[in-house]
Amino acid sequence: MMKWIDAHSHWTDSRLDKLRIKWMTEALSKGLHFTLQGGVDPSDWKKQKLFQKDFPQNVGLCFGLHPYWVSAHNEFELNEALDFLSQEIHQALALGETGLDLRPPYEDSYSLQMDAFEAQLEIAAVAQKPVVFHIVRAFDEAIRVFDFWGVPPQKGMIHSFNGSWPQAEAYLKKGLKLSIGGPLLRLKNEKLRQAVKEIPISELLIETDLPDQPGDQWKSELNPPESLLSVAEEIAQLKKLTLAEVLHFTRQNFKTLFQVEI
Ligand SMILES: [Zn+2]
Repeated sequence: MMKWIDAHSHWTDSRLDKLRIKWMTEALSKGLHFTLQGGVDPSDWKKQKLFQKDFPQNVGLCFGLHPYWVSAHNEFELNEALDFLSQEIHQALALGETGLDLRPPYEDSYSLQMDAFEAQLEIAAVAQKPVVFHIVRAFDEAIRVFDFWGVPPQKGMIHSFNGSWPQAEAYLKKGLKLSIGGPLLRLKNEKLRQAVKEIPISELLIETDLPDQPGDQWKSELNPPESLLSVAEEIAQLKKLTLAEVLHFTRQNFKTLFQVEI
């Protein structure tokens, strides 16, 4: 059986409360080997720990303050959560999601998002953790931050990369890997398809971001775990590899980046 690693998911999302155990049990029987969560806020970190108790071999913890959470809170609340993150982060495999999201209405909280982003880069560097980045409509801003502060030593991945090859190349030059998910399955996404052709297979990860970002073929609102195989198949076609090779290389890349023996 072909085994796969999902580099980014939200199994703790409340929309999965009644489906979580059933979906996970089924996904494991189909070949899911390991998945790394995308951390959102302190209550999510707690939920991740509970979920990991049920599937200790298959779930990786990732703690961070998502730009959406940041944009809905004030400076005082942010500082409290950052303190708590510094205390908790040693338990996690990675720090994230952190980054910038400048779509309306989140763009209004630009300066608080920037504070949260820079503080989390520092926490990751001190704790020696790789970082899961959420960068949406903020490529130039993110590169400026990386130019100024540098990328934390354990590097990281751009989750749900959906940009052009020149953008991919700029991230690669910073030592970051690119995680590809649902956007590759959208029709007419030639820009991303072109980028995936160019990105070396050694720099790619694959993800679902479930239950978000279902591809065009899923009519349901919830993105299922096996959608990862459709992403992998698409990458295989674009890069003239087999599905098994894509799953193998992305598994190796994940283990290298997050330093896990799984
Ligand atoms: Zn996510």
